[in-house]
Amino acid sequence: MTRTGIGWDSHRLESGLPLVLGGVRVEHDSGAAAHSDGDVLVHAVIDALLGAAGLGDIGQHFPDTDPQFAGADSLALLREAVTMAADAGWVADYADTTVVCERPKLGPHRAAMAAALREALGADVNVKFTTGEGIGFVGREEGVAAMAVVTVRTRS
Ligand code: MG
Repeated sequence: MTRTGIGWDSHRLESGLPLVLGGVRVEHDSGAAAHSDGDVLVHAVIDALLGAAGLGDIGQHFPDTDPQFAGADSLALLREAVTMAADAGWVADYADTTVVCERPKLGPHRAAMAAALREALGADVNVKFTTGEGIGFVGREEGVAAMAVVTVRTRS
């Protein structure tokens, strides 16, 4: 049996903060304001995985009010979510993702992001990029967003 889940996340950008996407530190003049490392791409994948496994959402399992998740490495949270899904009888089969970001150009980081996500998720991950075309909160560079779809199958 297979099931599919979707995930979406966005964070505000603030100058001087680190920008981490797909577990990769991207050089930029601003980064995500967040309780954890603010990795919207990994957060979207976690939510998609939890959704496919029928396990609710990221806020239930890793609340941003919990001090233990302050500055958390989101890839470590993804590995925990993989364990939760496995305990519920599900293993990831594939993920497709899109990062919505105006600047900087992310293409040079695509392979590193896909590799980091693949290692943590235990399945192939496709990483796509698009911009806000100058409109909306992404276009105005007020924030960055990501969406993901994860397919899981029953563990054999
Ligand atoms: Mg988030």
